[in-house]
Amino acid sequence: MAVATNLEELSIEQNKEKESLNLFLSTQTIIKEALNKLGYSNEIFELLKEPIRMLTVRIPVKMDDGSVKVFTGFRSQHNDAVGPTKGGVRFHPEVNEEEVKALSIWMSLKCGITNLPYGGGKGGIICDPKNMSFRELERLSRGYVRAISQVVGPTKDIPAPDVYTNSQIMAWMMDEYSRIREFDSPGFITGKPIVLGGSQGRETATARGVAICIEEASKKKGIDLQSARVIIQGFGNAGSYLAKFMQDAGARIIGISDALGALYDPEGLDIDYLLDRRDSFGTVTNLFTNVITNQELLEKECDILVPAAISNQVTAQNAHHIKASIVVEAANGPTTLEATKILDERGVLLVPDILASSGGVTVSYFEWVQNNQGYYWSEEEVAEKLQKVMVDSFENVYQTSQSHQVDMRLAAYMVGIRKSAEASRFRGWI
Ligand code: NAD
Repeated sequence: MAVATNLEELSIEQNKEKESLNLFLSTQTIIKEALNKLGYSNEIFELLKEPIRMLTVRIPVKMDDGSVKVFTGFRSQHNDAVGPTKGGVRFHPEVNEEEVKALSIWMSLKCGITNLPYGGGKGGIICDPKNMSFRELERLSRGYVRAISQVVGPTKDIPAPDVYTNSQIMAWMMDEYSRIREFDSPGFITGKPIVLGGSQGRETATARGVAICIEEASKKKGIDLQSARVIIQGFGNAGSYLAKFMQDAGARIIGISDALGALYDPEGLDIDYLLDRRDSFGTVTNLFTNVITNQELLEKECDILVPAAISNQVTAQNAHHIKASIVVEAANGPTTLEATKILDERGVLLVPDILASSGGVTVSYFEWVQNNQGYYWSEEEVAEKLQKVMVDSFENVYQTSQSHQVDMRLAAYMVGIRKSAEASRFRGWI
């Protein structure tokens, strides 16, 4: 933990660490429940409850003013029985070990649900990229790769973008790794610029995956997308592309929001206009006066609600007031476990985050496959392949939830963890 300089900073850091620990512990709790339902022994849980490898590194970086700043970074590998581990690297002041560990487990679950030949990984660096120059970020990115180069690689552990990292950072990291290994290694990392082996369709992959889940969930609930009313919380990368996809599918987007408030119109919002006016942080409501709060928006009458912003938005306090028939979690952890129970009891179909937001890692996998074969696909081919993966994944989780009489979140954990458990067993580890 970085040394806090005043009390306020201390409490923010402690809150974040407490939140990360809760995330880690609740992930372990559901994994235990999922393994029990599947009839696995406690030994499997003992293996899968923690990452098999967690590396902490110190990265000295020459800053533009000539000083040297030492950053702390992490790389967590949850389980590599299925294949190499895979997962993003985030740059954020609040990155901490528990969060990185929990998110690497989530990546195993996502890869298990989508049936990709990977285990889960995750990385992060404690830094404030908003207050660093372009060249400082380059030196930090390259320093991180030098620090973790022994444990990563195209057949070991494949990083990708995450919070506050982008295709430029992936390009620097790929270049650094290629220099260390002395051969071109595009498959070392995904989320690269197209010219360096990035995949078509990567930027919209998460939103496209969410849209496919909405389509499948609507079929189960007998909702016609042509007349469906949709509310989306968050208008960033995930939320804004999703709004566009849903509008193109014929749905009426009656509400959207950002960090400053929400727009609501039962007749439908003009999504193209809002997309045109939003800034690069996904903010648009500041241009309007008739704004309601995020909490008010969540409780409005609609058919489909998509939290696509931050965690803990649907809670025991408001779950009884949610009017949607379908809630699709594009964000990570937007619904608490108590709220999941309440929604399930009320007959609301909840599509959990580890299923709904797995389009991103799926197209990352496609990028890696294209890098390995040196043959590249069109955007249409990528979209078609993503469609099949997401439809199959949704159906698998839905059928598991029906046959085991469990909610969709537990079903997703059951499908997600089974592959790592089976692979560990076949390898003779357990
Ligand atoms: P983003 O930073 O591009 O956009 C976030 C949006 O949420 C912005 O519109 C912002 O104004 C809004 N927001 C921030 N704080 C808010 C608050 N307190 N209340 C309401 N809105 C608020 O982020 P993104 O990439 O769109 O990701 C959104 C969520 O989806 C995150 O939980 C992320 O972890 C998850 N996710 C994203 C991807 C991806 O590929 N983008 C993949 C998997 C999961």
